[in-house]
Amino acid sequence: MNGFTNHNSQDDGRREISRRDLLNGGLLLGAAALLAGCQSGVTSASGPTGVVWPDMRGDVKPAPLPPTPAPSGGGAPSGGRPVLASSPGVIPRSEWTPYGVIAERTRPMTGIGRITVHHEGEAFYGSAERSTIARRLANIRAGHIRRRPEPFADIGYHYIIDPAGRVWEGRPLRFQGAHVEKNNEQNMGIMLMGNFDAQRPTAAQLSSLEGFLVDQMRRYRLPANRVYTHQEFNRTACPGRNLQQWMLAMRSPAGAFARA
Ligand SMILES: [Zn+2]
Repeated sequence: MNGFTNHNSQDDGRREISRRDLLNGGLLLGAAALLAGCQSGVTSASGPTGVVWPDMRGDVKPAPLPPTPAPSGGGAPSGGRPVLASSPGVIPRSEWTPYGVIAERTRPMTGIGRITVHHEGEAFYGSAERSTIARRLANIRAGHIRRRPEPFADIGYHYIIDPAGRVWEGRPLRFQGAHVEKNNEQNMGIMLMGNFDAQRPTAAQLSSLEGFLVDQMRRYRLPANRVYTHQEFNRTACPGRNLQQWMLAMRSPAGAFARA
């Protein structure tokens, strides 16, 4: 049984997005070679028009990080904001790995000035039971820390959204991630499991991503043009055309990010 095929109104919603984007002259990506993989693959550098295009300046003052987590989680020091990783709805890292970050391979995060959305690059089929997702996350981390020539400190992303819409803590936010070449500073990385050139994100994933992104944008006071996709920084197919299309619609003047 495939629990992630959504023959429901969400599909209709996505078709509406598609038509609107085409009317706006967006999505000039089709002719490019689209190879799988978050860290590989090439797509067109052409940008759509009629949508909010990202602000590529690097000099925007970032918002500070949330307070340092209390050892047992469950809240912030007095006067601070809640700690995100232990906020309701975010599954803590301890649920999928006993290991920490190899701190000497990365740097501290000095604030949050932008967010970048990715796909995994591997199609996801079958069950999304918690135990399955936990193993998949551990495998991704194992691949990342063995990368050559530059092994990562840990899984590269700060948050991962699985096909059931759960949000998992990846690399703790106090560490810089490894998800956008040369642009990891003050950049929160969010990855959705799946390959969105080969499949669509599930309705649960998109709903969760929207809520999570809007919450982060408010938390760090980020406008829509500080929320990016990987291919807007590097030559890559990531996050796949189906998620890229959704992101453009969300970032458009009528989209949810513009109202966040
Ligand atoms: Zn990516």
